[in-house]
Amino acid sequence: MSEATTAQTPRFRSVLDRIVSFRPSRALPAQTVPACPLAANESPYGPPAAVLEAVRRAALSVNRYPDNGCAELIAGIAARHGVAEECVAVGCGSVGVAQMLLAAVAEPGDEVLYAWRSFEAYPILTRLSGATAVETPLDDGVHDLAAMADAITDRTRLIFVCNPNNPTGTVVAEDALRTFLDRVPADCLVVLDEAYREYVRDSGTPDGLELASGRPNVVVLRTFSKAYGLAALRVGFMVGHPLVAGAIRKAYLPFSVNSVAQAAAVAALGAERELMARVETTIGERERVGAALTAHGLTVPASEANFLWLPLGERAAAFGEHCVRAGALVRTFAGDGVRVSIGSPAENDALLAAAATFGH
Ligand SMILES: *Cc1c(COP(=O)(O)O)cnc(C)c1O
Repeated sequence: MSEATTAQTPRFRSVLDRIVSFRPSRALPAQTVPACPLAANESPYGPPAAVLEAVRRAALSVNRYPDNGCAELIAGIAARHGVAEECVAVGCGSVGVAQMLLAAVAEPGDEVLYAWRSFEAYPILTRLSGATAVETPLDDGVHDLAAMADAITDRTRLIFVCNPNNPTGTVVAEDALRTFLDRVPADCLVVLDEAYREYVRDSGTPDGLELASGRPNVVVLRTFSKAYGLAALRVGFMVGHPLVAGAIRKAYLPFSVNSVAQAAAVAALGAERELMARVETTIGERERVGAALTAHGLTVPASEANFLWLPLGERAAAFGEHCVRAGALVRTFAGDGVRVSIGSPAENDALLAAAATFGH
């Protein structure tokens, strides 16, 4: 080591100036009401016994590197969805897969298109990639696919379509999505983010896997973080053309899906019956909470996900703070709306109790 240098810092990329650090919802002020975590669209349930056992067994070998090829997990996903293994790629959460997709197709000067408001990761990942974000406003909470198609330029490399959309819970219909996909140039990648697919009950909502088969420029993102209850373990995947999956494998941060996560996800596929029964409970709660909030005088758009969107506009911050004070942690988008995850029946009751006293 030579003499100490003056206090200089590394030079950071200018894109970081336009990225807000990801921050979960504000911590609760000290108070007596127990917190109901309804801000992150997680499953309210702990792991089924078989998943817990897989985690325990995998924990015995954490001194070893994971299988970098994620062979068993990819085989399990491929079998579950009836696709070839070469069409599947996994990553550190579906957010990790999205980042790899951007790394594979987008660079400075390129454009990445998505609706807004939508998933908060899109602008962050897009800016990090160096590409330019192009945002098309939602039309009454729904993706405006015609406007999005109009916004495509010869620099558009990737388009996110979040279906159901986070945070509005809305879906795009099959006809509209097919028409849109027909307008997208073949060299532009469309990413159908279906993180909440398991919660969809509207029969007019397309299954991205069907749309993607036969369209080499369309991939579907799915995750183990929501219906499969493994948010902490970070496993997501894409299904699409083998060329896209192959590109993702090149962009893969080695070992980023760890061995405990791989084992848990494989076990979760095996525990699907139990997990999907929980999804049914959540959907029942979604209808119950939606009806109750409507009875409290709130506007509650139909949701096909495990959360509800309350388009409160200028009242959003006040409602969000009121809920948090009452122990129900919700996600507030100030000036726009509040997103309320569907939790356990007791957690949902806490939210409803808070909503009942809002504005009184
Ligand atoms: C929660 C969510 C995900 C899941 O991200 P993971 O990285 O898989 O945990 C992906 N997309 C959307 C729109 C989400 O809301």
